[in-house]
Amino acid sequence: MSSTADANYGPAPDGAAGPPKLPTRFSSLARLPPGSLSSAYADLCSGPWPGPCQLPVVYHPSYNISFFGVEKLHPFDSCKYGKVMSALKKQHVLREGQTVQPREASLEVLADVHTQDYLYRIHYHNFTIVQVTELAALSLLPNKLLQWRIVAPMKLHVGGTMLATGLALERGWAINIGGGMHHASSSRGMGWCPFDDIVLAVRRVRKAAGRLVVLYIDLDAHQGNGVERDFYIIDFYNARIFPLDDEAKPAIDIPVELRFGADDDEILGRLHAALAVAARTLPRPDLVIYNAGTDVLAGDPLGRLGMTAAGVVQRDEVVWRWCRDMARAPVVMALSGGYTRESAGVITASIRNLFEKFGLGVDDVAAGSGGSTVEASQAVAPAGPGEDGDKGGAGTPATAGGLEMQGGMWGEKVEVQANAADAGPVSN
Ligand SMILES: [Zn+2]
Repeated sequence: MSSTADANYGPAPDGAAGPPKLPTRFSSLARLPPGSLSSAYADLCSGPWPGPCQLPVVYHPSYNISFFGVEKLHPFDSCKYGKVMSALKKQHVLREGQTVQPREASLEVLADVHTQDYLYRIHYHNFTIVQVTELAALSLLPNKLLQWRIVAPMKLHVGGTMLATGLALERGWAINIGGGMHHASSSRGMGWCPFDDIVLAVRRVRKAAGRLVVLYIDLDAHQGNGVERDFYIIDFYNARIFPLDDEAKPAIDIPVELRFGADDDEILGRLHAALAVAARTLPRPDLVIYNAGTDVLAGDPLGRLGMTAAGVVQRDEVVWRWCRDMARAPVVMALSGGYTRESAGVITASIRNLFEKFGLGVDDVAAGSGGSTVEASQAVAPAGPGEDGDKGGAGTPATAGGLEMQGGMWGEKVEVQANAADAGPVSN
């Protein structure tokens, strides 16, 4: 793979000596000024709207699911979120008080995507929780206990993904240290994904900020069969494992099917190719949602692929760099799957690398850098027609309260640096 280490800085004009060209900061990709979405997301943010001393990193200690050791019956490390947070603080990537806490997504919020029948079952039927978690032993426990220790934390993850998505529009980037439940859809959950946090997040952000063009990049080892088709989708997945959902595949714009044991070279090579195709064939996004599953690691019992820790760190950097330099769009990252004991360490290493490479811990503390001239009071308004339905393609500018948004697909032409070699087929 070609190195991306020097891609931050372009050469001096005409080869002349002089200061290097400064890289674009993610904060300059923000579509709205800080605070614009505070009202629209008040129900999902615990405490005041994050100020300049906080980073758009969303986490709640109750993300972690642990009770009586039952969780250990499944390979899913349901406490990896806390491990990531502890490590990030220990390594001085994050400081106490810098992160943002979400609230649980309420029933009313969940009903924006999920059917009443499904919401009833996930709240009152243990069997539905067993189906989602694949833990038969849970059927013997009181439903109230399951709600407290499993369903409520999952609703926090949903609130976290939704909140992080709004913050990404204001800050240019955001990370939910959880979320990414890409197997859930309106009427069912599966694979530890009871709620469709990604579609919920897209619908909320469109209601708050207008008809955004959203690109969803799913590099978790599993097919993201729960997400629906009102946005553009790049999905890498092991084609021989769960969920094998052929019905959902037509919704994927750029599918990349992987074989057992696919390694760094294969996945990173195909990632570069897929992103090159996306740059040429999909509309310029206003927002990228990145599902960064770590079940691609070698040894993961469920993903059954062959990436190394260094490969995953590089993968995440490639996606973020593409968002910044090619799509020129804010990015929000969710953690999704990852079923080895190494997963938390790899996520930590990757987030640390993103902070170092892109100056994330620095630029947002400066804040106020949203760059838009949209007044906060005007920035939140219900979306007009087209909020749902098609993928929000070119033709109707994204708006914030009826005002045209800055930059992005409407404001500038971006040269696509794809070549013939990149343009090969990305699925098999
Ligand atoms: Zn997965």
